[in-house]
Amino acid sequence: MCSPLRLLFLSLFLLCYQLAFCWGLTGHRIIAEIAENHLSKKAKKELRKLIGRETLAWWANWPDFVKSDSNWKHASPWHYVDVPGHISKDSFLAQLKNLPGKTLYTQIPAMIAQLKDKSQSIEQRRIALAFLIHLIGDLHQPLHVGRSDDEGGNKITVYWFNEKTNLHSVWDTYLINNQQYSYTEYSHLLDIAGKEQVIGWQNSSLDDWFYESHQLSDIIYDSAPNESKLSYNYNFQFQQMLNDQLLKGGIRLAKVLNDALE
Ligand SMILES: [Zn+2]
Repeated sequence: MCSPLRLLFLSLFLLCYQLAFCWGLTGHRIIAEIAENHLSKKAKKELRKLIGRETLAWWANWPDFVKSDSNWKHASPWHYVDVPGHISKDSFLAQLKNLPGKTLYTQIPAMIAQLKDKSQSIEQRRIALAFLIHLIGDLHQPLHVGRSDDEGGNKITVYWFNEKTNLHSVWDTYLINNQQYSYTEYSHLLDIAGKEQVIGWQNSSLDDWFYESHQLSDIIYDSAPNESKLSYNYNFQFQQMLNDQLLKGGIRLAKVLNDALE
């Protein structure tokens, strides 16, 4: 039987099935929501001019959504960098600076400049804002500062509670989903860092943030070789790192926006 009704149910089922694998959205929204809580008065006022009453979380995933638009194909490499593992900070930074084309490393400063530049149209500055919200998030997912031979862990097969997936997806979505919080609940629970901690995280440089993610990616790679079976123990081992990265991402995004919109 292949009635129109049956087709409708089938397509609804497929849509829901796909949505179930789109919760990678949550990570970006958590970071955006935490940043929202740490904005200066001036930044909030400037943001009103750009996005009205819309929130940072509302815009957090726009740069992933536009990937499917042919006009934005060129922006796909902006979301990550690929650098070999286990290297010193000097060597790491030298390689980052030599990467060809536009990358996560070149586009964060480029988008900061575009957001700051009041001679740009509101539309252009809004695009820069959306990218900054998203890219500062990507920077704090350690496998977006991963290795080229396995495409940031995309080519490392792992089993998450017996479901076949890859290491990159575990960090983009599975680990976050496993905590079973909405993005508002999650950001509310995480956003309790003391003032000194916040200042410490914000006062390091963009280069420091990249190297920190590189070092964390080394730990993640070492923890899960190809065909690893990951479940409760992996969650227990890495929950703290995941939470720290989400919180740091939010706190630092606020710093970037406060500086750009002063
Ligand atoms: Zn991304």
